[in-house]
Amino acid sequence: MADLVIIGASYAGTQLALAARANGFAGNITMVGDEPHPPYQRPPLSKAFLRNEVDASSLPLQSPERFAEERITLRTGVTALRIEREGRKVELSDGSEIGYAHLAFTTGARCRTLTCEGAGLGNVHYLRNLADACAIRDAASRSRTAVVIGGGFIGLEVAAALRTLGVEVAVVEMQDRLLQRAVPPLISTFLMRAHAHQGVRFHLSSRVRRLLGHGSVEAIELESGEVIAADMVVAGLGVVPNVELAQACGLVVDNGIVVDRYARTSDPRIVAAGDCAAYPNPWLNAVGQGVGPDRCMRVESIQSANDLARVAAATLAGRATPYEAVPWFWSDQYGYKLQMAGASTGHEQIVLRGDMESGKFTALYLRDGTLIGADTVNRPIDHLAARRLIAARVRPDPMALQDESIPLKSLAAA
Ligand code: FAD
Ligand code: NAP
Repeated sequence: MADLVIIGASYAGTQLALAARANGFAGNITMVGDEPHPPYQRPPLSKAFLRNEVDASSLPLQSPERFAEERITLRTGVTALRIEREGRKVELSDGSEIGYAHLAFTTGARCRTLTCEGAGLGNVHYLRNLADACAIRDAASRSRTAVVIGGGFIGLEVAAALRTLGVEVAVVEMQDRLLQRAVPPLISTFLMRAHAHQGVRFHLSSRVRRLLGHGSVEAIELESGEVIAADMVVAGLGVVPNVELAQACGLVVDNGIVVDRYARTSDPRIVAAGDCAAYPNPWLNAVGQGVGPDRCMRVESIQSANDLARVAAATLAGRATPYEAVPWFWSDQYGYKLQMAGASTGHEQIVLRGDMESGKFTALYLRDGTLIGADTVNRPIDHLAARRLIAARVRPDPMALQDESIPLKSLAAA
């Protein structure tokens, strides 16, 4: 019997366990994870790890000593198979059961996969976990050409890493621009130029008809009939949330385990956080990404996983406080650090600070005169300042925003 059972041992699970302790939760905590490793960092898997610059020993999220100090029991290599809500029990793949007083779903998401002809050929990769990254790194060492399907974060970061390793790369994207859901056109254009400068070839507005090869992939054929040679393929097509377990035990699920602003599911004993959870994000709803203030959505980022997990932990410890955090995330491609804060959708005005050509600039997004979002490239100080300004809902003078002699943080008073 555990006072709290957490299913899924990654960002949200780890943060939830630690934050529960920080909030004074005194009971037993057991975290169950189906991967063979203790929780580890995923961002390097498409960045420094893929480029062979760091090894797996640098990836753990927390040391084993920290889990021990906080009295968090970690059970790795074990899958939660079934929840019995009436009896408050979790059945595990090793044949054991754990009773719970409170339960947390932090089961994350898995890669969407190709369904076209040839999808089952060898050397067709997806990237979600350490094993996937090792397989891609290994394939890259034996490949001259690669096709990356999907121009989202995975696709672009993998393309950059493969180029750095000397592999020829072509990117195929269905939309007419890169990162269409995450950034506005000016950032898509900037990134596409950066990749093209490194020799990446792009096929936008293009769909894959089939993969060709004998046992292992050799080429991909587009709907247009064009054939692109490929010793390996990496597909970054987005993710699907791991909700089946929650659905099977009767929780409300709608493209994610539905929770309120306190991370509570439809069962008051059960919370959920991270990529598997759909919650009302006040910032994204305010700019029209949701329909109405309480529309639930999934936000796939480490910031969201950590912050919603903290909210869930506070709820479990009897100190419920609603989710308020401003969304932010980042991406590294070649020498460019792109950092995104708030939201760019729904903006009416863009103010550019600095020069895009120099590869160091800040794009600020305004709606009704209020700063709602900012994308920065190689400007970490602007990123941190923008997060504070967005949280303070400032209505800055656009001329002052643009003026690089005025530090962004000084505009907080405005
Ligand atoms: P996950 O990290 O998906 O973890 C869920 C865990 O639960 C997994 O280990 C899963 O196997 C396990 N699990 C699922 N079902 C069960 C079960 N029934 N029993 C036991 N265990 C189960 N975000 C950023 O903000 N910035 C970045 O730069 C960035 N880079 C990324 C790079 C890569 C290569 C990837 C894959 C993701 C990246 N992300 C990045 C996204 C970020 O990693 C995710 O948003 C984050 O991992 C979500 O954390 P989570 O704990 O909700 O879920
Ligand atoms: P993503 O950002 O959703 O991008 C997937 C892209 O592939 C979308 O543009 C999608 O178009 C396109 N696509 C889908 N099917 C396709 C097909 N058959 N052919 C061509 N293009 C296709 O997802 P991702 O890049 O796979 O990333 C997976 C997860 O990891 C996400 O949660 C992401 O946030 C996370 N991640 C984050 C970072 C970061 O924050 N730096 C880095 C890596 C990964 P549609 O939009 O039309 O579907």
